[in-house]
Amino acid sequence: MNCSSCGISVASFGLTFFDSKCSACVSFDELRDHEIALKNERYLNDFFDRASSKSGTYDCLVPVRPDAEDYFVVNYLVSRGINPLVVLVNNFFLNDIGWHNFHNLITVYDVDSVAYSPNYPAYQEMVRASLRKLGSIYYPYKAIQHGYVMRLAREKSIPVVVWGQCQPLEFSGKFSRRDRLFLSQWWVHEHETNGVTPEQFLGTGVQLNKRDHSMLQYPRISETRGVKSVFLSNFLPWDQVGQNMDALSKGFVTESLDNSYDGFENSGSSVYYQMHDLLRVKSVGIPKLYEHVARDTRFGRWSLDVGSKMLANLQPYLSYNIDSFFKDFLGVTSSGLNWFVKNQLDGVSHLIRAHPEKNIREEVESLYTGPRLSGDVDAKHQFVKFMKGI
Ligand SMILES: [Zn+2]
Repeated sequence: MNCSSCGISVASFGLTFFDSKCSACVSFDELRDHEIALKNERYLNDFFDRASSKSGTYDCLVPVRPDAEDYFVVNYLVSRGINPLVVLVNNFFLNDIGWHNFHNLITVYDVDSVAYSPNYPAYQEMVRASLRKLGSIYYPYKAIQHGYVMRLAREKSIPVVVWGQCQPLEFSGKFSRRDRLFLSQWWVHEHETNGVTPEQFLGTGVQLNKRDHSMLQYPRISETRGVKSVFLSNFLPWDQVGQNMDALSKGFVTESLDNSYDGFENSGSSVYYQMHDLLRVKSVGIPKLYEHVARDTRFGRWSLDVGSKMLANLQPYLSYNIDSFFKDFLGVTSSGLNWFVKNQLDGVSHLIRAHPEKNIREEVESLYTGPRLSGDVDAKHQFVKFMKGI
């Protein structure tokens, strides 16, 4: 069965169906409910007013990746006189475009920032172990980022952490916009780290010094008391593409990738996006491209008929280059990479290729009625281990 509004399959990851409609579309319909919009806006204004009355130098802390959504979040806050501290936890996957987008963000909005880089050899070993044990390369970053951000907020007496998009709400419709969602240890466990605790992850076979273990821990409740963590998309009319387009006028740079027509998606993090998305295709059978096509059907950027046809056959549009991740990031030899592809990426190895059979960008260009993306840039480097903030 497929959703009668966006065409997404019932087999899609994390979705529930209500009759013929998927939960993401039910959540999307709430965006047009004026009563919900009004109540949410009022709630958010009161929430920030209360927070500002308790804060010191900074009213809130904003973790950034950094993507176009971060520009929207910072713009929203600054234009309301709310003073954010911007925090980048370095996942070491950023390329030159990613670092430009970070430096440009803090410059354009003239906000203070912290860039935290975990110990690189330890982080590299965690990514290697995460790939081996969990079939994912993002576990260490997710765990480190959430723990670090909450500790920093508490340490600096910042009462609120502000996130932009809430993926379980936007893409899976797991909650209603009438709900008040707050990020917690349970939330991180349930929605960010796939139910894997640091203890389970570290278990056996991770060659890490004990002192590096603490990076992965989420602080105890007593250590985060007084800090609330909210998602703006829970409260605001949320149009990801429209908002992202606004970031272009502030100097945000999009990245050109073969397997996506949305140059905003993980712009500045191509090595991560390619490997992560390939692992996603392997584990749940669905690339990010699938969610983008369904999202744009929901927003009426093409017809259900056109979107459904694309959803039914996306494989010709996909190609993944994972050489740089293995050889340069992990320091694995060609034979090691070949072994991994043969033994761990069986079923998706045909997608590891220089170019896709069909060009998604050309296809979309002739169909898309939404705002046009042009001027996507090719990254000069696949990733940059570290760049000092300006
Ligand atoms: Zn739907």
